[in-house]
Amino acid sequence: MALIDTDKRPVICWFRRDLRVHDNPALCHASSSGSPVIPLFVVDTELIAGIQSDGAVFDFQAECLRDLSQSIETLGGRLIIRRGRLSEALSRLARETKAEAVYFNRDYEPTALGRDRQATDLLQSLGIEVKAFDDVVVHPPDDIRTAEGGPYTVFTPYATKWRKLDKPKAPGAPSRFDTPRLASDPIPGADALGRQTLINNPALRGGETAARNRWNSFLRDGLNKYDNLRDIPSANGTSMMSPYLRFGCISPVRMYADLSGAWLDADENGRRAMAKYVDELVWREFYTSVLYYFPFTAERNYRRMFDGFNWSFDSMTFAAWKEGRTGFPIVDAGMRQLNATGWMHNRVRMVVASFLTKDLLVDWKKGEEYFSTKLLDMEKASNVGGWQWAASTGVDPRPLRIFNPALQSRRFDPDGTYIKNWVPELRQVPSRYIHEPSRMSAVLQKELGVIIGKDYSAPVVAHRDAATSFKRAYMSVKQVSR
Ligand code: FAD
Repeated sequence: MALIDTDKRPVICWFRRDLRVHDNPALCHASSSGSPVIPLFVVDTELIAGIQSDGAVFDFQAECLRDLSQSIETLGGRLIIRRGRLSEALSRLARETKAEAVYFNRDYEPTALGRDRQATDLLQSLGIEVKAFDDVVVHPPDDIRTAEGGPYTVFTPYATKWRKLDKPKAPGAPSRFDTPRLASDPIPGADALGRQTLINNPALRGGETAARNRWNSFLRDGLNKYDNLRDIPSANGTSMMSPYLRFGCISPVRMYADLSGAWLDADENGRRAMAKYVDELVWREFYTSVLYYFPFTAERNYRRMFDGFNWSFDSMTFAAWKEGRTGFPIVDAGMRQLNATGWMHNRVRMVVASFLTKDLLVDWKKGEEYFSTKLLDMEKASNVGGWQWAASTGVDPRPLRIFNPALQSRRFDPDGTYIKNWVPELRQVPSRYIHEPSRMSAVLQKELGVIIGKDYSAPVVAHRDAATSFKRAYMSVKQVSR
């Protein structure tokens, strides 16, 4: 345990996307400095004004902060919340406490990098030392470069390099520390921030404690089946760790260490599942790297030839997509799951994103924006990466992959369990028709009480025609860009 010298100037540990006490490099270093520690979270009113998300995201964050606050108290300290403009909150606290240094964990998203540069300049101009650590990913973008020193734009070689590198060690638990007596604002939830909450997801409660419980139960009961069940949306076969990774309630370094620790005792099936799970964590880091090296992709196509693509937009069909009324059951089920819970299964995310961009020919940015308002796990890099992958505008080199919603649904939800859960008006529809209920005869529709166009939407497009239109539009931009 580090000895605390209360005569020393305090250090600030500035929490952002790392809302946990274990395996937190900034907190570990701050607490072992021997100085009093001010664990700080700034409710950045400017940043929040620019976030259009459902109130559930702020309630999830408030749960994370309450859990963090309790854990900090068990270490002897106290979480200090300051609400206001970031620069003012930081400089006021620094002056008030005569802090010696500010410790934080780096965030690689372009807007966060800009914010951190400004904060660092400000703190240094006040004579305060700034110490930054790696945390959000196992391997920061600068660690993984091609032989020529550039960034990877293809997943497989990136993943090969990622796997070969020595892994950082999780820093473990922090030392006990004192926090000086300071005023603190309350932890704000959605109400206090004036946000409306439409999403309710009792399965996803925020905080390090909830993250550890979910992770431990996934390691115990879910991991072995991951490889077989991860693509089945009705199966609860994935870890649902994504919101916890977004808010840093768990460290990816710890997750990787736990998986490696379990490797020796695992059978062949278990090892296959672990390797697959690690692959998914690597996808997250790959997209972090892509956005880091190509920040323009947050707003624009990675493949610039798509800048001339003839996207179309019809507010009625876009509303039907958002609300889950397209007449394509798997798409509607996914969008309703998103709207109700703030989370959507990965396979279905791919299907709804392909449908928006390649069946409705709507620019991926509209979909990405809508997802950002709903997802509890919204991470800019993964969201933009997922959308540009689906739209074929991104780093993935296969441009003409067009998902057929009915085929995807037959393959991954054969008896329609997932669809019927989220689209209750189709519960009476037999498996044979559940993927394309508009194929039911008028007699059967009447018999089941599911009239297409009345009880359930008629398809807003004909998939085959839409796919042809996409291909045609694609060929025309391809020719122009030659
Ligand atoms: P698991 O299958 O248990 O995977 C474990 C972890 O690996 C996830 O928590 C996540 O951190 C990571 N991961 C898994 N798949 C991917 C992937 N394809 N890309 C990047 N990381 C992945 N993921 C987000 O975390 N935030 C987003 O904003 C986001 N937006 C997406 C948008 C689209 C259009 C698509 C197609 C995918 C998006 N994803 C996003 C990726 C993926 O859908 C989610 O990470 C996954 O569904 C989260 O559920 P899970 O934790 O149960 O995943």
